[in-house]
Amino acid sequence: MTAPALPILPTTVVGSYAIPAWLWAAWEKIEAGGFGAMDLAETENDAVDTAIRDQERAGVDLISDGEMRRQGFIVSIFKYFRGLRQLEPRRKVGVLAYDGHVFYEPQERISAPEGLGALKELEYLRRATTRPFKITLPGPMTLATQITKGGPYRDRLEVAADLATIINRELRALAAGGARNLQLDDVYQSFLMEPKRLIELYDRCFDGVAVERRFWHICFGTLEGFGYGERTYRPLFPAICGVSADQLVLEFANREMAETRLWREFDCPKELGAGVLDLKNFYVESPDLVARRIRRLLESVRAEKLWINPDCGLARLPRHLAFAKLQALVAGAHEVRNGLVGAPSTSNRPPSVQGDHELR
Ligand SMILES: [Zn+2]
Repeated sequence: MTAPALPILPTTVVGSYAIPAWLWAAWEKIEAGGFGAMDLAETENDAVDTAIRDQERAGVDLISDGEMRRQGFIVSIFKYFRGLRQLEPRRKVGVLAYDGHVFYEPQERISAPEGLGALKELEYLRRATTRPFKITLPGPMTLATQITKGGPYRDRLEVAADLATIINRELRALAAGGARNLQLDDVYQSFLMEPKRLIELYDRCFDGVAVERRFWHICFGTLEGFGYGERTYRPLFPAICGVSADQLVLEFANREMAETRLWREFDCPKELGAGVLDLKNFYVESPDLVARRIRRLLESVRAEKLWINPDCGLARLPRHLAFAKLQALVAGAHEVRNGLVGAPSTSNRPPSVQGDHELR
């Protein structure tokens, strides 16, 4: 079946979706070795179905599989790498922060002989939905922040260069398998590296990858809701406007829409996937607030270049809240769409937003 045409101001997600209560419970049993391969596959498929159905019910135009097969944003990707030795976290007590992470030390050149698992995600998504969808992968520098120097690598940039080759192979395979929308996710730690190095790494990952749309989500990090760095994209401009990505997916809502003018100031030719849901905040935005945020963006970005999404992945929210926020996002986008002269009407119908945000 052909996917429906996208409306103006298309709505989408960044990647992950809220984890259902039963999946949290299943993970405990999975980690204790209580699931066989068939049990695991069935559970993961059910979780993906849940994420897809919620996004469809909310009326999101371009969806994801909720990254339900990954436990944590990048944690499960490491199981595909060879040549790394797992290190003990430097701190195990108290609040979780970056020093509580598992780190890895290279023993030899890093490889991923069986790929990174995204082809399985593509195969299932193609069967499970008729909506257009995106597939995401963490960027090389983001993965490299959990790998120390060592073995053949003198620093993290050398590690990231090899990871870019591995990611490139995965993206090429996804494109060959029929994926149309591919995204890399990077945590922007402005003090860690020059923007041009980050951009070069993105371009290496997408070298020779022919798809309809290449997305790049750059966020400020969200470990337990905390970021890692100054919340500004300004140091990335104007260099970022020359990256091979078609669309930059950025956070705005949790910064009260600061820096929306960067697009006009630098006459940036890229599409903007703008975050209009604050995910470091438990309140549910009203459709009117979402619409006001979109109108603010339209002062600097042309409507045909603007996409609407949450600030980041939804995995850190309880499901009822994630769903209610997505409903508000879609309703707000419709409100603005309806006010645009000559807006195409081929969009998913907005759901009626509930007075409270319990799942019905
Ligand atoms: Zn993010």
